[in-house]
Amino acid sequence: MTPYSGLAGSSSPAGWLAVAGLGPGGAQWVTPEVSQALAEATDIVGYRSYVARVEPRPGVVLHTSDNGDELARAAHALRLAEQGRRVVVVSSGDPGVFAMAAAVFEALEQGPLAWRALDLRVLPGVSAMLAAAAQVGAPLGHDFCAINLSDNLKPWDLLEHRLRLALQGDFVVALYNPRSQARPHGFARALELLRGTCGEAEAARRPLVFARCVCTPQQHLRVVTLSQARPEMADMRTLVIVGSSQSRLIERDGVPWVYAPRSAPRASR
Ligand code: SAH
Repeated sequence: MTPYSGLAGSSSPAGWLAVAGLGPGGAQWVTPEVSQALAEATDIVGYRSYVARVEPRPGVVLHTSDNGDELARAAHALRLAEQGRRVVVVSSGDPGVFAMAAAVFEALEQGPLAWRALDLRVLPGVSAMLAAAAQVGAPLGHDFCAINLSDNLKPWDLLEHRLRLALQGDFVVALYNPRSQARPHGFARALELLRGTCGEAEAARRPLVFARCVCTPQQHLRVVTLSQARPEMADMRTLVIVGSSQSRLIERDGVPWVYAPRSAPRASR
């Protein structure tokens, strides 16, 4: 593959595929690299609401789909690039975080060998947890992990197991896809598990951040303790950050600052 300077092949007839992150919301969080790929694309592929965020251009073909079959969508994009099209697969946030980049590589691995010679690039974006963290301070300033709370693609007991281990390791935990109409109970169970594991006294001080529609006009931020947290505080447009035992809260007018100190005391295990 040629060194990257803009999208290689943009002036040649060769096709390429870029898997791009659109960031959490407004245009100022779309990187110049992603904007350039979108400006050069002949085809945009993605989930309906993400494709809708791309400024339409005459001649650009939009391939929208429902959130369903990601592998089929990925294979479709690879086939288009193979045919010489300049394709951008769009995701919200970062395409490598619970999004299309992994699906593209899964389709690539299963597909014809010829696909491995394609000009394929992953263009990073600002993931929801980073955007949400920045709005409330620095809650991810120490060790943290991210867990997708949807059990569509993995069994619930595995999810619970990982949540328990994350708490045991005293990680700050960013929870993606916390709650949807199709999955109203999972987040409630997760909160129960968190409270059960932490104990009452700790739950009364441990901060949780509910960051909804971050970096959009609908942005809503809420910082509560684990004891105060309710399932209804989250939906599919919310990113939840669960503090660790070391997380700090600085009260002020409005939403408090939350941060994780840079160092952990020796006694924190
Ligand atoms: N690739 C995306 C994540 C896709 S999973 C990323 O890197 O951000 C979709 C989940 O991301 C949503 O259910 C929600 O938990 C979170 N999310 C995406 N955009 C968000 C935003 N603007 N505000 C809050 N959460 C967001």
